[in-house]
Amino acid sequence: MRIHLVNPSDTAFGVAVITPRWLYVLAAATPRDLGDPLLVDETLEPCRPESIAAGDVVGIGIHSGNALRGYAVGRLARERGATVVFGGIHATLYPDEAPALGGAHAVVTGDGETAWPEVLREIRAGTLKARYDGGKVRDASFLAARWDLLPRDKYMWASVQTVRGCPKHCSFCSVWRTDGQEARVRRPDAVVREIVELRRRGFRFIALADDNFYPVALADLAAARRRADPQRLEQLTAMREERFELMRRMAELPSDMVFFTQITMEAAEDEAFLDAMRRAHIVGALVGVESVTAEGLKSVYKGFNLAGDELTERLRTFRRHGVHVLGSFIFGLPTDAADTFEATARLADQADLTFAQFVMLTPFPGTVDFERWERSFEGKPPEIDGIPLTRHWLIPHGRRPRIFSPHPTLGAEEIRERTQGVWDEFYAIRRVWARSRCVPTLKGRLAFVLISKLYRQMYANTGIATDSARVHRATRWARIIAAPCQRLFAGRPMPELEVPQGYSRELPLTRQTS
Ligand code: SF4
Repeated sequence: MRIHLVNPSDTAFGVAVITPRWLYVLAAATPRDLGDPLLVDETLEPCRPESIAAGDVVGIGIHSGNALRGYAVGRLARERGATVVFGGIHATLYPDEAPALGGAHAVVTGDGETAWPEVLREIRAGTLKARYDGGKVRDASFLAARWDLLPRDKYMWASVQTVRGCPKHCSFCSVWRTDGQEARVRRPDAVVREIVELRRRGFRFIALADDNFYPVALADLAAARRRADPQRLEQLTAMREERFELMRRMAELPSDMVFFTQITMEAAEDEAFLDAMRRAHIVGALVGVESVTAEGLKSVYKGFNLAGDELTERLRTFRRHGVHVLGSFIFGLPTDAADTFEATARLADQADLTFAQFVMLTPFPGTVDFERWERSFEGKPPEIDGIPLTRHWLIPHGRRPRIFSPHPTLGAEEIRERTQGVWDEFYAIRRVWARSRCVPTLKGRLAFVLISKLYRQMYANTGIATDSARVHRATRWARIIAAPCQRLFAGRPMPELEVPQGYSRELPLTRQTS
């Protein structure tokens, strides 16, 4: 009985940007006496059916974007006589789909770390149930990944998680519902040990795969003080101190290490936090800007972001403190007008963003937006090839619309074209070359250009384009430049590297962090 873990994807680039962490975490959760699982990341190469034999177990993790491919892999594995188990965010939201469409024998909802070994135990005992609930594992149960199974030459960035959950409630995002609004913060010691293991193996670029690296804003502390809630205040203060403790320990890691994370814009008001990030080698962060207008932000429940000139200033604050920003924007909000696209492109330029992504509003399952949108059809959604639009992830990619709700003033094709136009403008070679000044050497600048182009090909051309020739061209081009880009990220292994032990110098700890 061989265990396979599959990360499904329709598009394979041969080399991927970020390691799908869940594969390596579930590998760690697999009992050792079952042998090393076979990890299949289809963003590298498609799954080989002949590798699956009768009696094997195939675990497939899906989000809504890759669910359709995941179901195809599941059916194929079942036909070959394997026991098929689905998990992931989409399986949590729609647990009945995988048995009906993906050949699943069982579905795990919630976090997988503790449920997966139980599933395997029960498969061996012949007592497999149809449904397991992994719930939300507490911080102490977060597992370190099996990095000994990670190929050295396939990924640019490894990934480590430091916190799960986000206290916000943006209407287009499902994280706060699936991972919870109470941040579950991992112990600094566990995080640092995992990072050291990766650096020993030659990974010096690491993405901190967190929902929100800044789980306690200064405004949250002020609100707890205002409410005279000492217990909450103590809890938030301890969590904040623990973030500083983590960053202080990370600051003692080798100076060639580079970290990237996701963070809310509020972090820019907390200059001590930004400085600690920089000292901890966290030199880049994805910041969800979403909209450049106050009305747009209100429409997605993101009123805590700023708009206009204040927004530009706040984004620049990151850069002033040495943290580069990948700004993320959404187009197609009901409040968007034709001039929003140009205003966004201008702001991305003025705010000194190092990278940017421009996505089109999509009602993702599990979000407030999705529920509102689904309700708007009053039980009678339009269909494409017999599939209701409200199950859009089941519509084959070529037939799937790019815009889902009629916009009050803009046509669907106009939104798509203007979005593509903003990508083209932001990643025009002269603009990329100008931005590459953020790295000091000519070699570094050339690498910056290559990586910017790769990012654009992987995410913009394949995600937005409706023209299949353009998609194929972009995929082919990305495959060609991905391998040399990966080599730029590889570091010399440091097998002797010690785990920095450290003690808190910046802030006293009010909670044990063993
Ligand atoms: S978009 Fe970001 S800030 Fe908003 S709920 Fe999701 S993770 Fe939190």
